[in-house]
Amino acid sequence: MNYFKECLYPNTKPDLFFVDGVCNACINFKNRRSVDWGKKKLEFIEILEKYKSSDGTNWDCIIPVSGGKDSTYQVYKILQLGYNPLCVVSTTCHLTELGKKNIENLKEMGVDIIEFTANKKIRKIINKIGLETVGDISWPEHISIFTVPVIFAVKFNIKLLIWGENSQNEYGGPASSVDNNILNRDWLENFGGLIGLRESDIIMLSNNKIYEKNLLPYKYPLDEDINRVGVTGLFLGHYFQWSGIGNAIISESSGFKTYDKFVEGSACNYENLDNYQCGIHDYFKFIKFGFGRATDIVNNYIRRNIISREDGIEIIKKHDGKFPSSYLGKELNEILSYIGMSVEEFNNICNDFTNKQLFKVDKDNNLIKENENVVLLKNIN
Ligand SMILES: [Zn+2]
Repeated sequence: MNYFKECLYPNTKPDLFFVDGVCNACINFKNRRSVDWGKKKLEFIEILEKYKSSDGTNWDCIIPVSGGKDSTYQVYKILQLGYNPLCVVSTTCHLTELGKKNIENLKEMGVDIIEFTANKKIRKIINKIGLETVGDISWPEHISIFTVPVIFAVKFNIKLLIWGENSQNEYGGPASSVDNNILNRDWLENFGGLIGLRESDIIMLSNNKIYEKNLLPYKYPLDEDINRVGVTGLFLGHYFQWSGIGNAIISESSGFKTYDKFVEGSACNYENLDNYQCGIHDYFKFIKFGFGRATDIVNNYIRRNIISREDGIEIIKKHDGKFPSSYLGKELNEILSYIGMSVEEFNNICNDFTNKQLFKVDKDNNLIKENENVVLLKNIN
């Protein structure tokens, strides 16, 4: 496993391209320096003017929101520009206390909000199937955050959706995805998380517990409906300089609440605060690819000259890839029992998904663990 020159992404990160040892997340960030952000802002206002409700009989746009720092920033920005958004919350897979507070805070900011919660009984079954089959416990969330706001856009005849960052630009991805300012079905199918698990798999794996009709919240609207309304989705990060820490500061001044210390397995206190399953999700990234959420966050700091690469290595060693024995203070067994899974079942799934080319194994190819749960990376440079 090798690391890129300027940040701390390893070459095991899927879809990460590089030039001369510099990854494209770093290259994308440097390219932002030459952007005329004043001009971008005017472009954005022009688009909003074109799409807004001309006679005030409908909302101007939809903002998909989770209650996180980014969505709080999105709401702040659209209100600052003087528009009237409809905010659509697609509830997370296991909403945290902090997440609830931050959704309540959005309501206090002066916008109309729809909170949509997909059938929890069905969702818990999918959580389990997702973890067992593709190592993604929050598959229903990763799909429905994209599908639900578009479903409402079609139903309410609202043409414009304002998404947050283009994650492919912020964290690196194929060239075709990073300069894209539009989020549509293509982006979603290729980069947005519709990978690995199909609806037909879920129905089959559920042993007659899930039927087609239960999967409505996970279906992207038909092209003909999208075209009839003229729905289009833009990334706000394409028009305004995107910074996680900057968005957190702005959001906090609008009442957004953070955790009281670094989130477990991460290197900040201001993101992934709305789903108790995030720790498990990030841990699976670590055992599959050898890096976790702390690496993403530290890289954002390094690119913005907040800390050095050298200090970043120390932070990553301390925080990245921690076994998710708790998340936001909730114990693992509680988080698992919510979806009907035991810790033992969980440990077996972890073993199955741990990449033995990246982690230390004995001569029989069994994982070497420092203590009960801690797997060991073969090398860290
Ligand atoms: Zn990089």
